[in-house]
Amino acid sequence: MTDYLNATDAEYDTARTGYNLAVEHHPAAIAVARTADDVVHAVREARTRGLGVAVLATGHGPSRPADGQLLINTSAMKGITIDPAMRWARVEAGVRGGELVQAAAIHGLAPLSGSSPEVGVVSYHLGGGLSLLGRSLGWAVDHVRAIEVVTADGALRRTTPDTEPDLFWALRGGGKCTLGVVTALEIDLHPIARLYGGGMHFAADRVEEALTLWADWTRTVPEQMASSALLIRMPDIPFLPEPLRGRYVMHLRIVFTGSAEDGERLIAPFRALGPVTDTVTEMPYSAVGTIHAEPTTPVAFHARNRMLRTLDADAVQALLQHAGADADAPFLLELRHTGGALSRPAERASALRRRDGEFVLYAGGAAEADAAPALQARLAELLAAVEPWATGGVAVNFLSGPDVTAEELSSGYLPEDLVRLARIKREYDPENMFRTHHGLA
Ligand SMILES: Cc1cc2nc3c(=O)[nH]c(=O)nc-3n(C[C@H](O)[C@H](O)[C@H](O)COP(=O)(O)OP(=O)(O)OC[C@H]3O[C@@H](n4cnc5c(N)ncnc54)[C@H](O)[C@@H]3O)c2cc1C
Repeated sequence: MTDYLNATDAEYDTARTGYNLAVEHHPAAIAVARTADDVVHAVREARTRGLGVAVLATGHGPSRPADGQLLINTSAMKGITIDPAMRWARVEAGVRGGELVQAAAIHGLAPLSGSSPEVGVVSYHLGGGLSLLGRSLGWAVDHVRAIEVVTADGALRRTTPDTEPDLFWALRGGGKCTLGVVTALEIDLHPIARLYGGGMHFAADRVEEALTLWADWTRTVPEQMASSALLIRMPDIPFLPEPLRGRYVMHLRIVFTGSAEDGERLIAPFRALGPVTDTVTEMPYSAVGTIHAEPTTPVAFHARNRMLRTLDADAVQALLQHAGADADAPFLLELRHTGGALSRPAERASALRRRDGEFVLYAGGAAEADAAPALQARLAELLAAVEPWATGGVAVNFLSGPDVTAEELSSGYLPEDLVRLARIKREYDPENMFRTHHGLA
């Protein structure tokens, strides 16, 4: 029996709140789903009551507020089934990335996981899934085999390329609460049990050199080498080591699935620059979630992103002007090296076919409502400055919160795919029951 919470219930506030506090939901009611049947019941209930339907798993990528709607909280749907021989996993809607990584690691296998163990597996896949293994294996969404979804008519469907090719195509890349509530995904696992990786921090006086080196170095590395660079002023908090506490640094992150010897040789130029920390080492894949070390405390976060064609010397200077040590930027700036298999078409085609660019530029910061406009203005200045290197596209998964526009979201897709997505939306959700997402222009 599905549990429904109203604003007067003690659990209502917890059930409507996730990681990113920049979007506050005031739903008419919350359905706490434990099974796919609960989701079916909730969608039918919403239909009867004439309500829109929104979904909350972890709150890492919220869209618009679900005010006056029925919010389905999937965080208790924790089932994971693994068939090691088939290298297959079935993952329910409330499972987080780290939980799946740990479950697969028992069998010496790995999913195409992202940087944060806290992010929900299902929505991460629906938005593409930019994995730390992506340069060699592609987008996570390329490795989805089947999708269980409750559509606006209240039916639970298991969609595959053979049963419902349009719905299967659209959900993968364009399916964040637009076409139904996904109750489970079936995905490929990969025989990856270890990696050579970790992070290095460079002090402020070395950041220009380290970032320039990284930009040049990314042109030379094999596809098994994934890396990213974070420019950030670290918080001034006691548990951080002294060389990081309150300091502006660059954090270089490395994930290499080749041998430790090759990895060591490849990263030697960074070691020669004298990082202030160095955790790069041989590790089990189950430790991959420690590499980016993203914060887990809920926060009101605003972020923008762009795909970049290249990162030449002028681009590095533009980035440092807006996010360097002297810029006093109210945001962190992250560059992820993409390319490789992330730029190639997938065997199982999906709505995520816009795959140009060699880097994702992601910038974001914490701000309560009154400080948000100033932060947004600084982010807009940064985006304007990198325009000469931008492809015109975005990483769909990193678009969330109140700052996203339909135009920006649309730029993540090929124009002909937007037409197909709109047609499939009309077919499966003619009354726009799933309406909290930003909508495509
Ligand atoms: C710290 C951090 C690190 C990240 N790292 C990566 C990364 O490495 N690679 C990457 O690709 N992305 C990354 N992301 C982005 C992340 O994948 C997306 O924001 C994703 O949508 C979050 O999903 P969630 O379930 O955790 O969040 P939620 O906010 O709960 O859900 C996000 C959206 O998906 C919809 N949704 C959730 N569950 C369902 C469902 N079952 N059916 C239909 N719609 C649903 C919701 O309606 C909501 O609009 C990161 C985000 C953060 C904050």
